[in-house]
Amino acid sequence: MAIVDEYLQDLREIVSFDSGSRNTAGVTHAAEIMKRHYDSIGFATELVDLGPEAGKGLLAVNKPGAAHYDVILNAHLDTVFPDGTAAARPFSIDGNLVHGPGCMDCKGGVVAFYYALKTLPKETLDRLSICVACNPDEETGSVHSSEWLMGLARKADRALVGEPGRPGNELIRSRKGIAGYVVEFTGKASHAGNHPELGCDANVALMRYALEASKLTDLPRGVSVSPTVMRGGSIRNAISDHAEIYFDTRVREDSQGDAIRSALEGLAARTWVPGVTQRLTLDHMRPAMPCTEKTRELMALLEKAALEAGFEAKWEDAGGGSDASFMAKAGIPAVDGCGPAGGGAHSPSEYLRIDTIEERIAMIRNVLAMI
Ligand SMILES: [Zn+2]
Repeated sequence: MAIVDEYLQDLREIVSFDSGSRNTAGVTHAAEIMKRHYDSIGFATELVDLGPEAGKGLLAVNKPGAAHYDVILNAHLDTVFPDGTAAARPFSIDGNLVHGPGCMDCKGGVVAFYYALKTLPKETLDRLSICVACNPDEETGSVHSSEWLMGLARKADRALVGEPGRPGNELIRSRKGIAGYVVEFTGKASHAGNHPELGCDANVALMRYALEASKLTDLPRGVSVSPTVMRGGSIRNAISDHAEIYFDTRVREDSQGDAIRSALEGLAARTWVPGVTQRLTLDHMRPAMPCTEKTRELMALLEKAALEAGFEAKWEDAGGGSDASFMAKAGIPAVDGCGPAGGGAHSPSEYLRIDTIEERIAMIRNVLAMI
């Protein structure tokens, strides 16, 4: 059977059941399937329990007990889709496109890593110490797996991350850091007609805060502070005593993120409306993955590996996050978007390009031969 047909058969198996991030049985089932595959090619495998809210991840290594890895290959097992999706729109093939929940994000990459290792020449496999880590909670911020991933990455020299290639087949050399903040405003309610002067308006405080905070946006430097969700008040004819705003913030480097955080804290300590208090909390964060000198060395290898596989590697600086950021935080260079290319992520139109499967597997195999 041609490698693409075999790949599609295995992809079908792992896409044909629900495995949304909080479906612990589903993500664990995906880990078990990949464990079976890695067992079959002689890797030492282990299902790693990442807690009752996350389920299990998979660790597969070719040199059991090794204290050092030449490379870590990371891709996630979970999808963003709710239970019922796999039945409602199952794995299907339409010309050059595969559809089905998670087919490109990120099961396409999970299976591609396996095929690259399965077809790796024996001398390369013997020479290298390789770690494969598949985690079950990337789409909800890797809250339960990031420490595990960073612990493995600290033992490694470099990382390849198997998120899908972009629709135009690009790979990813940098990612922005992300932090989400909630600011709650507490004021005092009063009748808007009879006694507006007795109220302390939480909505007005929110608007003043939001306008000031949005001035922190500096797009040429890659910084954005976006007030994405706002809620305030509960009764139409009363001064609002409560309001809440959510800020999505993005930065190119972690130091910029630190600056944004202290600026937002500073704004929260000010008085925007007398009698209204603010409370700022960090909802979640993911570090930035900068394109460093070491990243460029890894990129050069991938460019060569891609050319040998028959295509030209192009690069993208992504605004969204992934676990590649945790690899970077652990101090190693990472390149992301190594999986087969596709588009429509996180939507029913998600697709994987079949024409990129074989060349991506070859690229991964080639780059492993070069390190
Ligand atoms: Zn993903």
